[in-house]
Amino acid sequence: MEVKSVELYKLTIHEANELLRKKEISARQLTESVLERIDQVEDKIDAFNTITAEKALEEAEAIDKMIAQGEELSSLAGIPMAIKDNICTLDVKTTCSSNMLKDFTPPYNATAVERLKDKNAVLIGKVNMDEFAMGSSTENSAFKHTKNPWNTESVPGGSSGGSAASVAADQAFFSLGSDTGGSIRQPASFCGLVGLKPTYGRVSRYGLVALASSLDVVGPITKDVTDCALVLNAIAGHDIRDVTSSDSPVDDYTIALKDDVKDLKIGIPKGLLDRELDNEVKASIDRAIELYEGLGAKIVDIELPHAQYALAVYYIIACAEASSSMARYDGIRYGYRSEDYETLEELYKKTRSEAFGPEVKRRIMLGNFVIGADYYEDYYLKALKVRTLIREDFVEAFKKVDIMLSPTSPTSAFKIGEKCDPMAMYLSDTYTVPVNLSGLPAISIPCGFDSNGLPMGLQLIGDLFNEKQILQAAYTFEQNTDYHIKKPIL
Ligand code: GLN
Repeated sequence: MEVKSVELYKLTIHEANELLRKKEISARQLTESVLERIDQVEDKIDAFNTITAEKALEEAEAIDKMIAQGEELSSLAGIPMAIKDNICTLDVKTTCSSNMLKDFTPPYNATAVERLKDKNAVLIGKVNMDEFAMGSSTENSAFKHTKNPWNTESVPGGSSGGSAASVAADQAFFSLGSDTGGSIRQPASFCGLVGLKPTYGRVSRYGLVALASSLDVVGPITKDVTDCALVLNAIAGHDIRDVTSSDSPVDDYTIALKDDVKDLKIGIPKGLLDRELDNEVKASIDRAIELYEGLGAKIVDIELPHAQYALAVYYIIACAEASSSMARYDGIRYGYRSEDYETLEELYKKTRSEAFGPEVKRRIMLGNFVIGADYYEDYYLKALKVRTLIREDFVEAFKKVDIMLSPTSPTSAFKIGEKCDPMAMYLSDTYTVPVNLSGLPAISIPCGFDSNGLPMGLQLIGDLFNEKQILQAAYTFEQNTDYHIKKPIL
């Protein structure tokens, strides 16, 4: 095989792994190919905050030595990865795309990163995001706007926009993102990729910089469903360093890679689909439902009566928790410190005023408002109660169906600068936030292209810890369509 002539960066993880095993390529070649690709396209995409080229080449060479010595290769060995910049990486800057942490270098790896490194994946760099993961477009980064590889005038989605853009532009084989209200699934859908938000507690949050601790999850963004299962296999599982991590047994997710949805009961939340939804996205969802039906799945209408309140509930709870997460940035222990202050009070005030961007400030204010003594019962407590009702709707629905299907986002990628009103931005989370409020797993997979050639995404929601079932349904969809094979022209 003329492997040399193949553009290696275009491969999926499983394709590259096969060539490595057959010794037709080296890990060094893989990393070099991705670094060259970054050189070629990064000017147009602006996905990376930090590129760790030298370290990556050293790591790749070490893996080639292992291969030469005949050591057993893991499925991720030698595979270049990009990590969202709110996930801690030992000795590599982790900025959260904020001036507050722009010079922060963690003294440890997040558990998810550590597990990927144990499997010999190669860190290629840290990728851009909305500041502290607050946003849906990556426009809230303090550093730069990342562009959507399918149309560089459009946003890549957010908050894991750099994660999705880097994988879609073949600058990394896969990426880790974080999902508090949709930040893995929505950018995956905007960039034509697979993005999985695992069940809350399935993947350790140790080393993930907190946005809203009762909602945050780390998960993969990949080029196809097989790669998604491979990355999930590496990162899932109990971690004593995260008290919310679950010790329930971890499946081998590759078992789910079967082209079979016969008799699978798929619930369609009709009420949700009647809401503001782009016509082309709606049509792609209708086609997906038909396809599943044709493959033998049973389509069942379901009701999620409280899901209509999810957005309001999410923004109350997420802001309340964010205001508390952000309290640690006081200019004392680490991160930015204002240079110009006289009293301690002034040090706090100036540090936080100077280093936080507008969205972070907005959420700190909103959060403090809803947990303040005067409004706690009217807002925060009420939101917690409605969160329980939203969760109970899913419990009821899962008595009737195996998985649920919806769009990932009400639209395809919008233009950079188009949504200046924060409320308009918040509305793009309609389909993703009910899932986080309920702790459920959900995956976004490509389900078509709109008339502007932009990808659209389909969301499959599973019951708690049933990642396997959504992966199987996603895999089946992928086997019967070709949306995941198309690449943006750059
Ligand atoms: N867009 C949502 C928000 O702004 C989700 C963010 C996330 O999942 N990190 O809060």
